[in-house]
Amino acid sequence: MDFDLVVIGAGSGGVAASRRAAAHGARVAIVEAGRVGGTCVLRGCVPKKLLMYAAQYGSTFAEARGYGWTLPAAPQFEMAHWQAAKSAETTRLEGLYRRLLEASGVTLFEGAGHLDGPGRVRVGDERLTARHIILATGASPVRDSLPGIETCATSNELLDLEALPRRAAIIGSGYIAVEFASMLARLGVQVAMYFRAELPLRGFDPMLRAAAAAALQAASVELHAGVLPQRVRPLLEGFALELGDERAVEVDWVLNATGRRPNSAGLGLASVGLAPRADGAVAVDDALRTGVDGLYAIGDLTQRMNLTPVAIAEGRALADTLFAATPRQVDLTRVAHAVFLLPPIASVGPTEDELAAAGRPVTVFETDFNPMRQAFLGAGATRGERTHMKLLVDSGSDRVLAVHMIGADAPEIVQSLAVALSAGATKAHFDRTLAVHPTAAEEFVLLREPVRRLP
Ligand code: FAD
Ligand code: NDP
Repeated sequence: MDFDLVVIGAGSGGVAASRRAAAHGARVAIVEAGRVGGTCVLRGCVPKKLLMYAAQYGSTFAEARGYGWTLPAAPQFEMAHWQAAKSAETTRLEGLYRRLLEASGVTLFEGAGHLDGPGRVRVGDERLTARHIILATGASPVRDSLPGIETCATSNELLDLEALPRRAAIIGSGYIAVEFASMLARLGVQVAMYFRAELPLRGFDPMLRAAAAAALQAASVELHAGVLPQRVRPLLEGFALELGDERAVEVDWVLNATGRRPNSAGLGLASVGLAPRADGAVAVDDALRTGVDGLYAIGDLTQRMNLTPVAIAEGRALADTLFAATPRQVDLTRVAHAVFLLPPIASVGPTEDELAAAGRPVTVFETDFNPMRQAFLGAGATRGERTHMKLLVDSGSDRVLAVHMIGADAPEIVQSLAVALSAGATKAHFDRTLAVHPTAAEEFVLLREPVRRLP
């Protein structure tokens, strides 16, 4: 065998798996078809958050006046400036990832890789053999969810724009739709969202879904719930969304935010007797095994929980299992996650709906308030974004099952509370914790009266 491990895909999961395996002394190769770093670093989490920081200034400038600042003129946002700075930053990060691989002793093969029978990978003319192979090729935007959608931009193209459109339509209401609707609106774009559900963010706690809709509307995003275009038609300039019943809406630009599909086509799965699932995913068991000896899959390719920390944790757990005789699995039952709209959402643990459906006896604590920073400015001077918090507590054991929040710094706050939940914290632990004052986070240790009990 040429290598102990060949990893196909140098994104979050692949890089983590290959470096950890090399640290255990394995001979490792990684194959990358595009730029090293993957979705998160180059066209996902990182550039998205950098655009969020830019968007945040939209409200900061407005609020600054209320705090006594005089701003010389109406501040203007230059997408081209952001674009140049973002490209420089992602190029720097890509270089960093390449150096990390090299320093770890991982051999990089550049080109599209595919399986060529058990234990064999082909990259162009190169033929590699390996004891173990990890598939870590991630996912890409779906481009066939409705007629004409293939002519629209996806998050990939959005993050490469040199100039912002004046009027944008966003189709979908998941993570990507909500985050970019919120950001674009704060950067001065007129945004309308079209989606088939009643509220955005299917799968999130109902309190968060309603509050996210209110926050988007407060930022002047038009919400067209239950309205899904039947076709998108490119015009000489812009697009027409055909809404059925003879109605069509014209916009300058459309974001296709209708989900992502695992990159399994062209991976040579058939050469080892595997077929992808109907949604394109490579199915794995809890130990990330595909069912073919020595072949594993991690990250977005498996369509289990499409988050960077999950891909990284899976890569590392697999490398430890294969090369350090410390078999372990990643627990996906309590993964904290965030949606970076403004203000952001963060959650850890099940939703109230899920607990109700499971018939769990649950005590619900909730609060919502106008945050101090906005209250100071008075009604009318702010976008009226309230902070909402919820704790779901097992009525029998008193254990805190879930934390949900929308409000400034929610992802930072919930990340810390996730540690408490992992440690099995009870409501009594929360109650006996003293507050840090004045903060928003202190409300989580000051919740006294339940708002309801389930069932
Ligand atoms: P990827 O990072 O996609 O890496 C796969 C790699 O495989 C790519 O480099 C690709 O070029 C390569 N590849 C594909 N096919 C082949 C082939 N045949 N041969 C060789 N190489 C191949 N997650 C979060 O946790 N927080 C966030 O805030 C967040 N924001 C996001 C924002 C956006 C706009 C998007 C699109 C995603 C976001 N995500 C976020 C999700 C996160 O980016 C993914 O979950 C994560 O990147 C998955 O890692 P991965 O290693 O599975 O795949
Ligand atoms: P999501 O799965 O979050 O949302 C997809 C959206 O597309 C939903 O609103 C869905 O509607 C809609 N949709 C799906 N199929 C169709 C169709 N045929 N016609 C019309 N609408 C359709 O996917 P995203 O692309 O937003 O994000 C992909 C994944 O990337 C996320 O699930 C997440 O794991 C990850 N991500 C994470 C981020 C973070 O951590 N902050 C940020 C961005 C992405 P419906 O709800 O009705 O099914």
